[in-house]
Amino acid sequence: MPVPVVPHSEVDVLIIGAGPAGLMCANALANAKVNVRVIDKRAARVAAGQADGLSPRTIEVFQSYGIAERLLKESVQVHQAAFYNPSPSGGIELTSRTQDVVAPSARYPFEVYSMKPLGVEVEWSTLPASIEICKDEHVLMDPASHPVRVVLQKLDAPEGQLQEEIVHAKYVVGADGAHSWVRKQFDITMDGEQSDFIWGVMDMVPDTDFPDVRNKCLMHSNNGSILLVPREQDRLRVYVQLENKDIIDPATGRVDKDRMGPDEMLEVARKSFSPYKISPTTGFLWWTLYIIGQRVASQFSVKNRVLIVGDACHTHSPKAGKCLKSGPSLSIALVVRGWADLSLLSTYESERRKFALDLIVFDKMYSTLFSGKPLSQENSHGVAPEHFLKIFKQFGGFTSGIGVHYEPSIATLDKNQELASGLVIGERFPPYKFIRAADAWPFEIQDLLPADFRFKLLVFTGDFSDPLQNARVESMVATMQKPDSFLNRYATSSKGAENSRFDIITISKGRKEGFNFLQFPTLLRSHWSKVFIDDIDVTNSFGGKGYSYYGVGHEGAIVAVRPDGYVGAIAPLDHVEDLDAYFTSFMTAAV
Ligand SMILES: Cc1cc2nc3c(=O)[nH]c(=O)nc-3n(C[C@H](O)[C@H](O)[C@H](O)COP(=O)(O)OP(=O)(O)OC[C@H]3O[C@@H](n4cnc5c(N)ncnc54)[C@H](O)[C@@H]3O)c2cc1C
Repeated sequence: MPVPVVPHSEVDVLIIGAGPAGLMCANALANAKVNVRVIDKRAARVAAGQADGLSPRTIEVFQSYGIAERLLKESVQVHQAAFYNPSPSGGIELTSRTQDVVAPSARYPFEVYSMKPLGVEVEWSTLPASIEICKDEHVLMDPASHPVRVVLQKLDAPEGQLQEEIVHAKYVVGADGAHSWVRKQFDITMDGEQSDFIWGVMDMVPDTDFPDVRNKCLMHSNNGSILLVPREQDRLRVYVQLENKDIIDPATGRVDKDRMGPDEMLEVARKSFSPYKISPTTGFLWWTLYIIGQRVASQFSVKNRVLIVGDACHTHSPKAGKCLKSGPSLSIALVVRGWADLSLLSTYESERRKFALDLIVFDKMYSTLFSGKPLSQENSHGVAPEHFLKIFKQFGGFTSGIGVHYEPSIATLDKNQELASGLVIGERFPPYKFIRAADAWPFEIQDLLPADFRFKLLVFTGDFSDPLQNARVESMVATMQKPDSFLNRYATSSKGAENSRFDIITISKGRKEGFNFLQFPTLLRSHWSKVFIDDIDVTNSFGGKGYSYYGVGHEGAIVAVRPDGYVGAIAPLDHVEDLDAYFTSFMTAAV
């Protein structure tokens, strides 16, 4: 019998795992026109359950890919959180209500439930059998090489047939969840521990007399804690704190799903819920049990060629984690496009691992407070409602994903912060509405910063009608147009606008009534739609305070925003050389 020939193929990026982390990464890479494949051992997509609560920052990210609109239309927005605590007369009572996501600059100050497909084709029923990285350092340093060899097997091959394929990838992204196969192949350890808190989760359309059923509710009762999250189509997600003895198999020490089902979980919830009543109208739509594990992988990448993302590199309680990210896709796309040096990939580990470690510290404190017994006469060390509320508010920025701060690296230049104190270097560019100079249309600035893998240069010119400021801007433009400036060294205009690495947006001071956008040098108005003014809108409802909100003075500034929406660098108008230094640290010359 002839031996079947195993086909070989090449791909820029192979993503293993089509959970939320893998799909976000695939979507971002596909968006940047990077050749990407996604495989998953499952036969089909999971219909419901995990990672369907999204933070404001994730929605901003979706917005930058142009896929947030449908999500916002079909989902439920959570604006308010209600806090319940033990009542002196028994049962629970309402103690306070507050805004759910308190990060003040979130463009969407609410959480959204129900994530819809991101439109990336997944190869289901496909399993990696082996993975190897080439050991030759020269090959590894060559950005055009395909040094990762992965053998794939089709699980749905006809019986008795082994369908294999050998894929040679430039990069492999391990997005294969908390028990990551990829991570184990490279002996990467998960550091941290499992908490003692076990929770049950169930989705239902409730029949209840509880008045806060359409708010997010955080309840401490003498019987355990409960979290309620309203969902789409009248559904409710109920998280119930459970007793370890009821669920853990003493022989294995692991959660045993046979010991507790949704009916038993509902019984526990009902005791904590008293005096209110709750029951499912049409049965349970989905349920699960989980133990909170708080662990971070000892490394997030192997030789900058295999990178692990999502639960494969950090796990924490679902209450803290609603900040899905496209992982290393920014750096991979820039490197694959030949725009950035391989060294940019190391910023993925330095930025995201630090964030993951900070998140775990917060999650431990938050989970302990949420799962802890309430303060009472018998329990003087219990959780005081005011303390829990304070922590909830304090960490709003963290849980919402808005407050992520990246430390200085080649991708974030820690200099000139005083020129734009409200645009924090290493943090995401905050939203504000400016008026388009040519036609007085108001525009949300974040909509002008799509995740299209270009760096955005926001030129705050100050008042261009002031002769001093006019001269400053003209001189800045002259410097930027010199042959050795970063714009000329790194722009790839010969390959057309689609390959341009920079997008220049001008934001001037001025009044729309007398403003002429044609007065700017052409570099600052590549198209009429690129010039904005910090002025109040035509209905006199909003706008006009952008400079002060961003902390930009009359002398102006240039702000380089990374393709992932984070502030990368700030430079004075009369010292563009700071941007030269920034881009030279990781960009490769145009070919
Ligand atoms: C009850 C519960 C509720 C949660 N709610 C939220 C929430 O509301 N919001 C939120 O952001 N997070 C939530 N989380 C956390 C969230 O589910 C995880 O953080 C998220 O699913 C992690 O995504 P991931 O893509 O890294 O991994 P996963 O979702 O685990 O996906 C991994 C994928 O890889 C595949 N895979 C695994 N091994 C292999 C292999 N060897 N080969 C090929 N494919 C493989 C799997 O089939 C799977 O499709 C919740 C978690 C739990 C337990």
